[in-house]
Amino acid sequence: MDAIRPSLLNMQPYEAEILPHADKLDANEYPEDLPEWFKKKLSLVWEKGIHSNRYPDATHSSLKRAIADYAGLDDSLVSLGNGSDELIRSILIATCLEGRGSILVSPPTFSMYAIEARSLGIPAISIPRNPDTFALDLPACTEAIERDNVRVVFLVSPNSPTGTPLTAEELDWARSLPESIAVVIDEAYFEFSQATVVPELERRPNWIVLRTFSKAFRLAAHRVGYAIASADMVRALEVTRLPYNLPALSQWAAQLALEFADDLLANIPTLLADRDRLRAELSLIPQVQVWPSSANFLYFRVRDWDLAQLQQQLIQRGTGLRYTGGGLRLSVGTPAQNCRFLVNLRAILAPVPQHMA
Ligand SMILES: *Cc1c(COP(=O)(O)O)cnc(C)c1O
Repeated sequence: MDAIRPSLLNMQPYEAEILPHADKLDANEYPEDLPEWFKKKLSLVWEKGIHSNRYPDATHSSLKRAIADYAGLDDSLVSLGNGSDELIRSILIATCLEGRGSILVSPPTFSMYAIEARSLGIPAISIPRNPDTFALDLPACTEAIERDNVRVVFLVSPNSPTGTPLTAEELDWARSLPESIAVVIDEAYFEFSQATVVPELERRPNWIVLRTFSKAFRLAAHRVGYAIASADMVRALEVTRLPYNLPALSQWAAQLALEFADDLLANIPTLLADRDRLRAELSLIPQVQVWPSSANFLYFRVRDWDLAQLQQQLIQRGTGLRYTGGGLRLSVGTPAQNCRFLVNLRAILAPVPQHMA
């Protein structure tokens, strides 16, 4: 049909696999639902505090203030999105449209940047990471920026799917970029890594930090993400976003989550200890190569295996995980889910005993 942009015709809508019979360790979500007492509080807000016939707060003023408190900054430096996914789109609209430039991504990394760019007709330049260390290829990135009219560089720390944080050298490289290029630093896993560039933002008007309530705060169902940036950048994001982008219940859920952050985040040290144990167990399996992670997931490869097939076998045995970027990404689950994963993987990889061969 001629009415549709031809470049959209060969694009597929985003789909996430549904794994009804497997542990859901494929999307880096927090393994437990919100506690009962929290849901009761939120239900009460829904019953008594929300006028369903009225539009929600278009300026997110009260939630913005709570986020500014949590992140230790002024609320004029915060913009909220329907998930970070919406903020990524707002950033692209605010910077690259009207033929103003392309974006730079370094796979394996979060796929949404390139997907959203392409849907807007913005070229996505890919400079792959080192396949063994996942370090950025900085000389090639610099060359691409000069050659391909790059307007936004998307960095993630810790990176998904690899779990690796930005190195000091990579951060220095980002600092060296001119202010005409926006630098996005996606800190979706901040509550796990505790590493942030937010204190530096004051000196970097072209930097944007992205965070989300979808992971450590267990609000993936509510779709709340936020950007922290200079007042000028925040204003551009506010101009480009949809007016009522955040449903009232989602705004309330995020605000309650911040009010009870100490309770909701209390188990993170335990989850990180589980991650380290899981990694130690994995590294004992001779065929497995597993990387250090500063997030709530692990990335690994298995020598001499077709990983797509290994993923399918694990799903059949009850462990759902992601095959992406040439490796397998596994969210840290509950202790029982982690244990099941190890049992399943060992069963698949174990050599057939001689007497049964
Ligand atoms: C999960 C994740 C997000 C979260 O996106 P939302 O739209 O807020 O759910 C953002 N960035 C990265 C790198 C992620 O892994």
